[in-house]
Amino acid sequence: MIWLLLFLNLLLFQFEGFFAIIKVETEIGSFGGDRGQIDDEDHDYFADEMTIYDPNTEMMLDDMIITHQEFKRFFIEEDEIETKRNAITDENSYWPDKTVRYFMDREFYDVDKKIIREGIKMITDVSCIKFNELSKPPNDSGPYIHINSGNGCYSKVGADCKKCIMSLSITGCLRPGTVAHEFLHSLGFYHMQCSKGRDNFVDIIWSNMKNNAEKNFFELGTVSSLLNTTYDYDSILHYGPRFFSVNGAPTIIPKDGRYLSRIGQREFLSQGDIDRLNIRYKCYEN
Ligand SMILES: [Zn+2]
Repeated sequence: MIWLLLFLNLLLFQFEGFFAIIKVETEIGSFGGDRGQIDDEDHDYFADEMTIYDPNTEMMLDDMIITHQEFKRFFIEEDEIETKRNAITDENSYWPDKTVRYFMDREFYDVDKKIIREGIKMITDVSCIKFNELSKPPNDSGPYIHINSGNGCYSKVGADCKKCIMSLSITGCLRPGTVAHEFLHSLGFYHMQCSKGRDNFVDIIWSNMKNNAEKNFFELGTVSSLLNTTYDYDSILHYGPRFFSVNGAPTIIPKDGRYLSRIGQREFLSQGDIDRLNIRYKCYEN
């Protein structure tokens, strides 16, 4: 009898586990931004990776993994953040010694790794950021990016992590520009259309948006500062005009209409991207 009870308990536990998995999948199951494609098309995703992020402490914001604490920080008033700067400082999210360590999972072939390195080169060519490719995951406590081929393209924002997850799906993310986009997230940058002050440059059309996509379009506070550069329609971190559209109509319309077909490019780092990278990592000061 006891064995029967144990068996039933085990079965129940399995079911609980099963439902927990479904819950995580549902949460990340539907999106239409940068996670899987670089054009305006919209695809639903269904994750089979169960170790993407820890829902107790982290969440997905389109293609970015952020902590709940970081999400709350987006909405802290500027004067408040000044007083809290010491407690929640940006410094933790910067890569030490301006050096990004990364490890590419075994599932990548040499041809895939070559493309990932090309994306990295787009950053090293224009900044003082260094990249250190590891042949195996490190034993020390310093941060490193563990790149695997999960479902879609996404990255942990910043270096405030030990094993910082990045997914570059071999079926949709292996383009140098997409790789560079994800690495810019890991270097601490958010999407351009969420920058502070963006309402002077783009109109966000909430009524054309899919359910639950609104958070991807929130204007963020100081964390998403433009670092004294101007709003940048050409940024490789800008959404395309129809990202997360429910009806095919635009969700973002540049106030300067000439940029409608230009936003959302994933081919090159704009001059603004380069400037912000170099300002944030103090490349101009050396
Ligand atoms: Zn992104």
